[in-house]
Amino acid sequence: MQKSIIVIHYGEIALKGKNRALFEKRLQQNIRQALRDIEYKAKLKRVSGRFILSLNDAEEEVISRDRILRRLREIPGITYFGVGFEVGNSIDEIIDGVITLSKDLPSGSFKVDTRRSDKTFPMSSPEVNRQVGQAIVDRFGLQVDLNDPDSIIRIEIAYTGVYIFCTRYQGIGGLPVGVSGRVLSLISAGFDSPVASYLMMKRGARVYFAHFHSAPFVSRNSIDQVQSLVQRLSDFQHESICYMVPIAEIQKKIITIAPAQYRVLLYRRVMIRLAERLAQWHKCEALVTGESLGQVSSQTLRNMRVVDECASMPILRPLVGMDKEEIISLSRSIDTEGISAEPYDDCCSFLMPRKVETWGTIEEVNEIESKIEVYEEYDEALKQAEKIVASNRYATQVADNH
Ligand code: ATP
Ligand code: MG
Repeated sequence: MQKSIIVIHYGEIALKGKNRALFEKRLQQNIRQALRDIEYKAKLKRVSGRFILSLNDAEEEVISRDRILRRLREIPGITYFGVGFEVGNSIDEIIDGVITLSKDLPSGSFKVDTRRSDKTFPMSSPEVNRQVGQAIVDRFGLQVDLNDPDSIIRIEIAYTGVYIFCTRYQGIGGLPVGVSGRVLSLISAGFDSPVASYLMMKRGARVYFAHFHSAPFVSRNSIDQVQSLVQRLSDFQHESICYMVPIAEIQKKIITIAPAQYRVLLYRRVMIRLAERLAQWHKCEALVTGESLGQVSSQTLRNMRVVDECASMPILRPLVGMDKEEIISLSRSIDTEGISAEPYDDCCSFLMPRKVETWGTIEEVNEIESKIEVYEEYDEALKQAEKIVASNRYATQVADNH
């Protein structure tokens, strides 16, 4: 018996004690969902600490295998996976399977790495390594190199079956989306907030999005750009909801009353308050921003404190200790760099003063805000918010507001 399979391993979640079953179930759902639109009759089952995806060998389905591999690389919770065979539970069948697998091996050195969790299997792992290794040497004349081999043949002997594969594809690790609850991310068209959102997904949070814009006073290009970013980020969590919220009316009101250097801080507090309302609609536990300490003049510790003061939910800042270079390099690895690099009209630069307050106090800000009545505008902004639903396959605009 040689059945084509993909062996999928998950790391961290195996450590999570009694929550483990929950995590495994979620990861299984997430994998199923990510592969749902691929025309493929792949069957996924969970067996002793790993998932086995059974593949069909029909020709057209071999083509979609590449797409499956690409998808698996983007599912939080998967540490690595390998493409190979499930074989029968005897040394002869293992050797036959490895020989089939090894036909595609590059010439050069190799080693065999056996993990045996099925203790009823009559041979020890080193014995399996030796016998299988010898068979490859005899058959293909390859060289064994235990320290620095060109290829590693992996054999996993579990109670549920014997799995063999060669290339190990790296996943992104982390936790399956959904196991850590929900957050709402304030997303702009820049480099930082998409990376911050990704890091939250990787920690198992389902991420909702809100983008604030000053259209029609500036162009709508930030909205289009955010939509592309959200769509791209949906590859990591399958489907995303993003609200595009117009705040120009509120900004206009702020401008008439607030001293110029306070505008950015006040805009930020407006965003946080609106974001919190959206977060409540979706039962999110926290807000997320892409701020990094000291990166720009508005991102001082004091200003973070002033912004936090108006929120009742925690504001998570996963990039707080990162350099711009590190952030951009992450954005490259998740393919948002190209989109973020496009120019866009930012709502915070709408009627921006030359000088920005870097060390605002809560008292001053409260005092200024007490003179600005914007509660009606808040409701109006949320009423006019456009809701975008993006998935890894499509993006559509939905008319309603919830
Ligand atoms: P980014 O690259 O995410 O735009 P940035 O370095 O440009 O970040 P700021 O523009 O100061 O920083 O924004 C700080 C954070 O505030 C952003 O990371 C984002 O979370 C949030 N934010 C800023 N502008 C908007 C916006 N128009 N809509 C939603 N969130 C925003
Ligand atoms: Mg920005």
